[in-house]
Amino acid sequence: MAKKNIPYFRDKLTTVDDKGKRVWLYPKKPKGVFFNKRQLLAIVLLALLFVGPFLKWHGEPLMLFNIMERKFILFGVVFWPQDFYLIVLLLITTILFVVLFTVIFGRLFCGWICPQTIFMEFVFRKIEYLIEGNAAAQRRLSKQSMNFEKLWKKSLKHFVFYLMAFITANIFLAYVIGADQLIIFIKEGPIQHLSGFMGLLIFSGVFYFNFAFFREQMCTIACPYGRLQSVLIDPKTIIVAYDYKRGEPRGPLSKAKEGKLGDCVDCNACVAVCPTGIDIRNGTQMECINCTACIDACNATMTKVNRPEGLIRYVSEEGIETGKHRLFNTRSIAYSVVLTLLLLFVGALFVIRGNYDVTILRARGSMYQEYGRDSLSNIYNYNFVNKSRKAVRIDMKLISPPGRIHFIGDLLTIPAGKAGNGTFMVVLPRKGMKASMIPVVIGLYDDGEKVEDYHSTFVAPNNLDNPVK
Ligand code: SF4
Ligand code: SF4
Repeated sequence: MAKKNIPYFRDKLTTVDDKGKRVWLYPKKPKGVFFNKRQLLAIVLLALLFVGPFLKWHGEPLMLFNIMERKFILFGVVFWPQDFYLIVLLLITTILFVVLFTVIFGRLFCGWICPQTIFMEFVFRKIEYLIEGNAAAQRRLSKQSMNFEKLWKKSLKHFVFYLMAFITANIFLAYVIGADQLIIFIKEGPIQHLSGFMGLLIFSGVFYFNFAFFREQMCTIACPYGRLQSVLIDPKTIIVAYDYKRGEPRGPLSKAKEGKLGDCVDCNACVAVCPTGIDIRNGTQMECINCTACIDACNATMTKVNRPEGLIRYVSEEGIETGKHRLFNTRSIAYSVVLTLLLLFVGALFVIRGNYDVTILRARGSMYQEYGRDSLSNIYNYNFVNKSRKAVRIDMKLISPPGRIHFIGDLLTIPAGKAGNGTFMVVLPRKGMKASMIPVVIGLYDDGEKVEDYHSTFVAPNNLDNPVK
């Protein structure tokens, strides 16, 4: 609590009272230019999330994260365990991207794209406003003792919340097992898939708890990205900030004090709409998710009192202090170049990623065998992963030395996106063999066209001068 002549420094979360109890927030319904833009983006992102599992590309889902079968599809590109290094590279690049992006643009991601913010502000909070009304009505309803109105409003709200959580959990499940499998599960009913159904109920429960009760605590307590802000942002970072130079000293409009006060009329509108319950006028705070609700609220006030908008705006601390802010300074350009190079590097790795992954190994512990009167053979096992979108009939030819390949069993046809194993023999004429370990090159052919060469070795007898019996 602020004391006379002592500056006020907050040493606890705004959502925790002096006794350590949770302070429930009732943010006012936000409205304004930024809110409309965020709402539009949220609708697009939610639509993509909900239709995502049902979109297909060449018969495969556009996105799939099948952990059990270790199969991942990103925007139609199938990734196998063999491509795991690409996923790891992509993750490292994403982390670097997020770090560098945050250094320049602060928590832009939290306010505009983060699923927690989108679901909280544009799904669950909307349902709440619809059923319980705006902030004042919600506060009144919570404080009043139980009656019919409170019972039906709270029951309906929590029922719709759980239903929404259950639908979302189903969508997430579709991203893991595929939409077709999910539809089969639904048609066959929960009794047939009891353990899966129980898991779904539990996940829905966690989702429901997060948005019905945990809410902003996810951003202020649990989210590791939020915790990293204090080390990522600096005075040059663009944040949602209050222009204290222009706003202070604050005070209500008054003829007596005209010319002596700053632009902040102390209307508290920025605090009333804040979903994390902070007062942006106290400076950069770790709870601020840069949601822009206070920008809209303050702009509305500025318009009413006939002052220019932007008392709260996207700006850096340095920008407020010096009155100048250049988005493209040396640092942001250097970081953008690093980010671009990283993205190009990972993009190139994705592009040059082959359609097939072939492993050819000489059968473990095997030696050479006599093959007919004048030849020797070695046995090889192969594993073929077909990452392409069409079935491939395995076709291999011996490139060097002169000899041939003899497949054991039928030639394999590997369907698109599947893997297969097989065995073959390399047969070399004994005549002219000069070493006991002979390098062999095996060519892989697709539709008569050579795709790649694979190198292995052929084991021959030590005593090569022995005549063939
Ligand atoms: S201070 Fe403003 S931008 Fe930050 S969370 Fe609150 S309303 Fe959103
Ligand atoms: S909304 Fe603007 S004018 Fe009102 S208290 Fe906040 S900063 Fe001051």
